[in-house]
Formats: sequence, C-alpha cells, structure tokens
Amino acid sequence: MGYVDRTQKSKKLFERAKKVLPGGVTYALRAVMPHPFYVKHAEGVKLTDVEGNVYTDYWVGHGALILGHSPRPIIQAVAKQLHEGTHYGFCHELEVELAERIVDMVPSAEMVRYTSSGTEGNLYATRLARSYTKRQKMVKIEGGWHGGYDPLHKAVHAPFNTPESAGLNPKHLEDTIAIPYNDLEAAEKALKGEDIACLLVEPVLGAGGFIVPEPGYLEGLRELCDQTGTLLIFDEVITGFRLAAGCAQEKFGVAPDLTIMGKILGGGFPIGAFTGPAEVFDLIDHIKYPKMEERSAHGGTFTGNPISMTAGIVSLDILKTGAVYKHVDRLGDRMRSGLDELANRYGIKASTTGVGSCFALHFMEDPPRNARDVIKGDFEMSTAYFKHMLENNIAYMSPTVCHAFMCEPHTDEDLEEFLRASEEFFKANG
Ligand code: PLP
Repeated sequence: MGYVDRTQKSKKLFERAKKVLPGGVTYALRAVMPHPFYVKHAEGVKLTDVEGNVYTDYWVGHGALILGHSPRPIIQAVAKQLHEGTHYGFCHELEVELAERIVDMVPSAEMVRYTSSGTEGNLYATRLARSYTKRQKMVKIEGGWHGGYDPLHKAVHAPFNTPESAGLNPKHLEDTIAIPYNDLEAAEKALKGEDIACLLVEPVLGAGGFIVPEPGYLEGLRELCDQTGTLLIFDEVITGFRLAAGCAQEKFGVAPDLTIMGKILGGGFPIGAFTGPAEVFDLIDHIKYPKMEERSAHGGTFTGNPISMTAGIVSLDILKTGAVYKHVDRLGDRMRSGLDELANRYGIKASTTGVGSCFALHFMEDPPRNARDVIKGDFEMSTAYFKHMLENNIAYMSPTVCHAFMCEPHTDEDLEEFLRASEEFFKANG
C-alpha cells in the first residue's frame, strides 16, 4: 500500500487540523504533502503513526535528539523530577549543575544564561553584543537561520534580498548586513567599512545546506573580528553537542566570543542558552548594573526550567564520554560516502555535504560552498526523492534539500535500508 492509502486516519486528522491550525500545522516546515503522517509514539529512531505504520526517523526532533527518542536515562531522571516539581520559578540547584557542565565542556563558555528556545538565545546574545560593543550593526550569513527574531530574519531564503515575512519592520532589518558563507573577502569588506557589533555565523551552515567551513574560514573570521573589535558569535543551536562534546568550536579549534545553544542541550525538552566570557556577561549582572538602561536585559518565565535542566544534565553526562560521537560520526561518514558512491554508479548529478552525524544530499554535481550554490540544485528531483523515501518509511526534512541526522540508536542496518532505498531511486532516475 502506498503512503496516501496507508495514512487515511492521518488525512482525517489533517482535515480537522486545517480548521484550527493555519495550514493545518504548527510549523510550515512540518507540512509533509499531500498530508502529514501523525505520530502517536516515538522510541529510539522509530516513529509510529496513528495507523501503526513505522518510520525510521532521520529528522530526530529537528536534530535535537542525538540520543534518539525517549532514551531511558532521560526518561527515568525526568520521571523522578516530575514529582519534585515541573516549574519552580525560583532558584534551584539543577540550573547551576547544568551551567557548570556547559562551562566545563565548551571551550569559550565562562558564563551561561538560559532561554526557552534557540530564537531567544539569538535575541539575547546579539543584544548583549550590542550592549558590550556599543555598536548597532550586525553581520549574518546568507542562508543562516537563527529563528524568527526580526533583525536576524533576513537573507534566509533565496534570492536573499526579499522580505522573509510579512509584518517585518524594515527599520529593524536596516542594521543587519548579510554576506555569503565561506567568503572571507565579503566578511572583510563588511567588517572593515563599518562599526559592527557582531558577526553571527553557524560554524556549519545548517538549514542553508549543512555546508562545512573551508579550511581557514572560521580562523579568518576570528582574525577579522579581533582586528575590528567585533564580537564573533557562533550559533551552535544545531552544532552544539552534536559535532563534539565541546561543540563545533572544539571540533574546528576556533573559539567565538559568544555562543548560542539549544536543541541537544535540552535532551528533548525546550531550551536555549547563550554563553561567553565573564567580562561580557557582567553586563547582564543586575548587581553590577542596577540601572536598566546600562544593563543588557535578559529573562523569561521558563528559563532554567527544572525538567529541561534535568534532561540536559543527563544528556551532557552521556555525551561527555565521547562514545556517542564515535558511533554517530562513523554512521555519518558511511552515509555520505555511500550516497556519493551510488550517485556516481548511476550517473546521478548529486553530492553530499555535512560533517560528523549531519548529512545533506544536494541534486547538483559539485558540493555547494554556500547557500547561493544550494539553490542551483534540482529541487524537483529532491522532492521526488523525498516522496520515494517516505514511501519506503524513511522520514527526514526537508523535501527540497535532504537534511538528516544520525543519532545514537541508528544502526548499520538502518543505514543500509536508507542506502537501498536511495539506490532504487537513483537506478530509476539515472
Ligand atoms: N539557530 C539555528 C542554527 C537553528 O537551526 C534554529 C532552529 O532550527 C534556531 C536558531 C532557532 O531555534 P528554535 O527553533 O529553538 O527557536
């Protein structure tokens, strides 16, 4: 039975959803067409929908679940914490414990503040950079997705110069300059000409296509920021605790000034955080800066939520040993080389990008080096591939560019199933 025939309950749910949720979904990104499958249960890397169909998941909670769905140690710790309280709204030990682990593991982290999402982490980190440097302008990367905060909601999608949303106040975007990834000349031009508060970059371009930094790129950005008094900010919402226990900054050996985290840090529960040196974070200290106009304000009802803190602590303790990375990185390498080899064998114009446990498949001959290259790919082919994989009960995002994550419960058998389904597609389309 094909996808549509075997997901008829989901189809009905989608009809109901369309009456109460715009577009029938809670996030446009999740709008699998012609209708989404509705998940009822998730464990390890297997999703079971309301009809009982089982999918192997390579999206794993937007990349948040490096330990897979419902890992036992997290479930046990969270179940215990649920009885101790779900949201204190006062200070507690868990928020200290998690911050101590982050500072211990992440090279550039001396001080930490929590948020409830990566978007908020970006908001507060860039505000802090502006407070510290007393400059207004910011540089971001084309194709860089940092959440929906207005000044950063710019140049995310091609052609990178049209509004990313209705309702954005152009005044809020005026001070944001977007430059292509992996282009040091563009960075130099943007930084040298102006007083820039911060340069915000995902060390590996995420939604923009899982593109890795060329040798010297991150080092070059570090140097340019040092020369111009600009704060270098790594948005490690995807790469944080995914590429290494010390995040991408450990893997690539380049330390930013500020770092934004999210996803994996929450162990499957909502979280965000931003970190950096004490000298900069002093500006958030209400004792040192009692006047509101001098302090870089930060807060939030659910910051330091004890459930997210508990899941984060358990996750970091598991990740710190490094064993998870050995497994998921090996699978990621096998996946990239397996897909490259198959594309070659069947004469398909396709290339892979990514590093460690992140992989992307682009239907274009040479791997892209920035988001401008990504849009030269054959999106019709990508969409057909997505459909084919879904017919084979393999789920990832997005239909136009396959971004996918390996996580701890994935096995070599899962990977071989993915490659087999891909081979079928390549064979039929080569
Ligand atoms: N930054 C990056 C690099 C992301 O990939 C995302 C989300 O995918 C965000 C920020 C926004 O995080 P959130 O969705 O938790 O607000």
